[in-house]
Amino acid sequence: MRRPILVSNRLPVTIGVDSSTGEQTLAHSVGGLVTGLKPLHESSGGLWVGYPGADPSDEIRRELDEQNLVPVDLDPQDYNDYYDGYANDALWPLFHYFTEFGSFVPEQFEAYRRVNERFADVICEIAEPGDAVWVHDYHLMLLPRMLRNRGLDARIGFFLHIPFPADETFRILPQRVEILRGLLGADLIGMHTYDYAYNYLRSVRRILGIESQAGTIRMRDHDVRVEAHPLGIDTDEFRENAYTENAERFLTQLKRTVGDRQVILGVDRLDYTKGLLLKLRAFERLLERSPRWSERVLFIQLAVPTRAGVGTYQDLKAEVERRVSEINGIHGSPLLSPINYLYQTVTQEELGALYRVADVCFVSPVRDGLNLVAKEYVICREDGGGILVISEFAGAASELGEGLRVNPWDIEGTADQLERALDMSLGERHERMMPMFSRIVQNDVHQWVRNFMSSLEKTETDQVGSPPMLHSLVLAESLASDFRTADRSLVMLDYDGSLREFVDRYEDAVPTEEILEILHEYGQRDDVTVFINSGRDHQTLGEWFQECPIDLIAEHGAWMKSAGEDRWRLLGALDTSWKSNVLALLDDYVGRTPGSRIEEKETALAWHYRQTEETHGNWQALELVSVLENSLRGQPVQVMHGAKVVEVRQQGLTKARAYDLVIDRFGPFDFSLATGDDRTDEDLFSHVGPEVHTVKIGSGSSAARVAVDSPRSLREMLFALLRAKVG
Ligand code: UDP
Repeated sequence: MRRPILVSNRLPVTIGVDSSTGEQTLAHSVGGLVTGLKPLHESSGGLWVGYPGADPSDEIRRELDEQNLVPVDLDPQDYNDYYDGYANDALWPLFHYFTEFGSFVPEQFEAYRRVNERFADVICEIAEPGDAVWVHDYHLMLLPRMLRNRGLDARIGFFLHIPFPADETFRILPQRVEILRGLLGADLIGMHTYDYAYNYLRSVRRILGIESQAGTIRMRDHDVRVEAHPLGIDTDEFRENAYTENAERFLTQLKRTVGDRQVILGVDRLDYTKGLLLKLRAFERLLERSPRWSERVLFIQLAVPTRAGVGTYQDLKAEVERRVSEINGIHGSPLLSPINYLYQTVTQEELGALYRVADVCFVSPVRDGLNLVAKEYVICREDGGGILVISEFAGAASELGEGLRVNPWDIEGTADQLERALDMSLGERHERMMPMFSRIVQNDVHQWVRNFMSSLEKTETDQVGSPPMLHSLVLAESLASDFRTADRSLVMLDYDGSLREFVDRYEDAVPTEEILEILHEYGQRDDVTVFINSGRDHQTLGEWFQECPIDLIAEHGAWMKSAGEDRWRLLGALDTSWKSNVLALLDDYVGRTPGSRIEEKETALAWHYRQTEETHGNWQALELVSVLENSLRGQPVQVMHGAKVVEVRQQGLTKARAYDLVIDRFGPFDFSLATGDDRTDEDLFSHVGPEVHTVKIGSGSSAARVAVDSPRSLREMLFALLRAKVG
């Protein structure tokens, strides 16, 4: 196994100061993530990199070193601007859709960048070839790219513990490009849910114009996988804590206080994302509608202090406390208050006892990356006698389908579900809780670590790199002997961007004398079959090459015509049912994007934007792709974003398919060469077997075996190859 280097904002220990001696001490942090990562850290001899909370003394440094913990030294002011500033005042609110709380201060972003750089410095000093670096959370989103740019020889994983918002919200972030690109340095990006992974991929597409295929993004230097890996909890530890002697004692006291009332439990950090005010309102509504519950239910709400020095949080605390008193005042009696509100942290044993006594666990964040409380509750109620009410805006809701789902904004609906939970029979509660219990046990935090690490390992083998860039004559030389000795050769050439340079107006890219000469010379040979395999419309190709003794494939594999024939053959059934709608949409984009134009083909429509103002054109193109994909879902078409062109074409007619038909009809060949420059050619490259010599024109990742830098080099190569044959 690779040596893991775990990286998080804070180390799993915190430096404190002993009040009597004034000396530094080390306190171990608790929490699900630390528990989950600890075994990986301890068993593998790996390292953990993070900020220890203060500048460590020599003694503490030695202790950290013994525990394989690597402190990152940070300037305290930088730390504040990075942590309280950019991470918690820009990213946290925005990623939880609280755009009104987001403050985007450029200086704070600069501090964020500096701190990420400091982490990169430390990691690059300690990493050894072949390590697996696993970066955690929204504090360190620039780090993966920084590590890759420094040429770190390691697998790089990243996990985001908060939601990734929809692109419409994410694009508010002034540093959206840096943040997206930062993550793209990783080999594997993990998120809690498929929705978050999808949101990220969509932002990458809309904002950077980079496409993904089945969750993989191909970058120039590596592949990035984006996957859903919902965090699990340490189920054993939770159950143990909930059943200790202390827990039993606390439980007995609790039961005495509760009497024969049912308990609704809420456990939340006092953060605006947790929706505490809506939660109180829903509970109040339940009491208003059904006063019978006032004396028959106790709502224990544990509000865990968090960021208590920040104004927004202080306001929230004051408002929550005001509402609690109000509800207790109206619905309570001198003997009983319906809400027991606690602003404090409790021990794990007390928390376990609270979970055990709760008939209903009420988890209603307005936005939450996952929510561990929901899982902890199900595990502690292993008798199955409780019931979970869970917000659909908590990431965990997608795994806990047997819970009662609520939309916390819908006060009536939430009150309905609370009442349903309170009235639910033990049998039904059991039926709902047990499948969730098994699922949580199976996917505990240790399994989460194993899954992520094994995915990170796999990404390497799947990687598609950039083919080596060869000089034209070197490439010709390497192909020469196979080509010379072949009795039957196939030469399949893409046109625009491969044989011919791009020009501003696509209709001006007529073949030059040089290109016609190459095609003539190849086409004249009986032992060589030459195909132009282009995305161009068939009429134009037919006109341009009517004098050439070569075969043609047009419109990305839709049509074929043999040398000397007049008639084009459609390589499938023509379906134009989608065309009028798409044409209307493209017309609309032409109207709104000066310089863009439509090319009509029989099987496709293309929107060209090479001549538009660059920024506007790029933005419109990304938007158009997205609109087309949404509006054409399920239709028999494919949307392609090529070099300054967005094309919609009939599905199923591809260059790869056309290649198969050529082999069927004219093959087999002893020598095959296929060339191309864009995504439609990649279909072909990844489709053909290793016996085909595939050549990409231009740089970048590709399934082709080799690359040349330009159409000019390809033409030189073709001339040189022919000379090798002619002798
Ligand atoms: N928790 C705690 N002490 C308390 C109350 C809660 O350590 O007094 C823990 C709880 O067990 C859970 C975590 O705090 O593991 C809260 O995690 P969650 O995902 O629900 O929300 P977050 O606070 O991460 O947004």
